[in-house]
Amino acid sequence: MSGFVPVPFFRPSIGEEEIDEVVATLRSGWLTTGDRARRFEAAFSGYIGGGVEAIAVNSATAGLHLALEAIGIGPGDEVIVPDLTFTATAEVVRYLGAEVHLVDVDPATLCLTPDAFAAAIGPRTRAVMPVHYGGLACDLDGIRAVAARHGIEVVEDAAHALPTRWGGRLVGSHGTAASVFSFYANKTITTGEGGMLVTARPELAARARVMRLHGIDRDAFDRYRHPGGGWRYDIVAPGFKYNLSDLAAAVGLRQLEKADTLRERREAIAGIYLEAFADLPLRLPVRGEQGGHSWHLFAVRLDPAAPIDRDGFIAALAERRIACSMHYAPLHRMTYWRERYHLAAEDYPVSEDAYRSLVTLPLFPDMRDDEIQSVIASVRDVLGGRAVAPVRGG
Ligand SMILES: *Cc1c(COP(=O)(O)O)cnc(C)c1O
Repeated sequence: MSGFVPVPFFRPSIGEEEIDEVVATLRSGWLTTGDRARRFEAAFSGYIGGGVEAIAVNSATAGLHLALEAIGIGPGDEVIVPDLTFTATAEVVRYLGAEVHLVDVDPATLCLTPDAFAAAIGPRTRAVMPVHYGGLACDLDGIRAVAARHGIEVVEDAAHALPTRWGGRLVGSHGTAASVFSFYANKTITTGEGGMLVTARPELAARARVMRLHGIDRDAFDRYRHPGGGWRYDIVAPGFKYNLSDLAAAVGLRQLEKADTLRERREAIAGIYLEAFADLPLRLPVRGEQGGHSWHLFAVRLDPAAPIDRDGFIAALAERRIACSMHYAPLHRMTYWRERYHLAAEDYPVSEDAYRSLVTLPLFPDMRDDEIQSVIASVRDVLGGRAVAPVRGG
């Protein structure tokens, strides 16, 4: 097919600032966790606000694991997780020997709702892990209220939600047990691989810091500090190896400075898409409150009235050299989760329906205008919408 500019699903926004910071790190003689990781944590906690501490980790998965460990999740406990998420949200519960209770999501937002959460609470429920799907804030007030009534901890999977606001304040600053952000290669800011756990609870932060690095407690020995005693440490638990290197933190420091600018560009592109697709047989994403969406994902659902099914739509866009993705095949469809909990598709009508109709279109801050127009023209071409004006400049 000709006439369409090829569009990748994603290109990271890496500038000379990130490259210079990495080169400076390489020249500094200190590559692993050190001053840059500490500065990244300080900048991150300042950015989120609300007096949180930030703990840099080598993935969001690691951060979610540390958060659940720090609140004491273990065998016999149950954790509520939305069905429409990446397996990382749920797998960390199993790392700790606890059980996962998968719950269907809301048809409008594709997030876990307070009502669905409340209905799923049982005698062993200890925690809930809302996912800000695609970057749209969940109803954090509602979820926190239900959790507080039942003495349940809230650990937010905020992998998509930097920056996302709820009630005018950033996700991460809402007083849940912890919020965990991802800096995976295609997330809203990246360190290649990496993540950040934020919490306003000092004891939780302290536990996560110790467990992040082998269960080493340096503070316990600080009181014995004397010249030449810098090698002393104690081991207080069988911890993990989840620290973020200074090489990765170097990228993160520079990316964080751009987080708001990158979101503005994402929002502008989302606005163009929402307008361009308004007359098509597509269910478009909810905008949320002002600033309430990071626009990490632009996930649309094909109407039953669409002239093509989801797989056909993705294939037709691929023919036009537009690369799409899909978030997510719900967990109840995955062999491990289905078999472990004997899950039936009938119990997940919303995520089942979403599974059949969801497509994630390319949306990233460095998209050129001709790429945006190519996505629009291709989608309209496939779905039989009227033609659009030719591309204006690049
Ligand atoms: C990316 C992602 C994760 C895991 O992030 P990593 O940094 O790759 O470990 C967890 N949950 C969701 C919803 C994600 O999209």
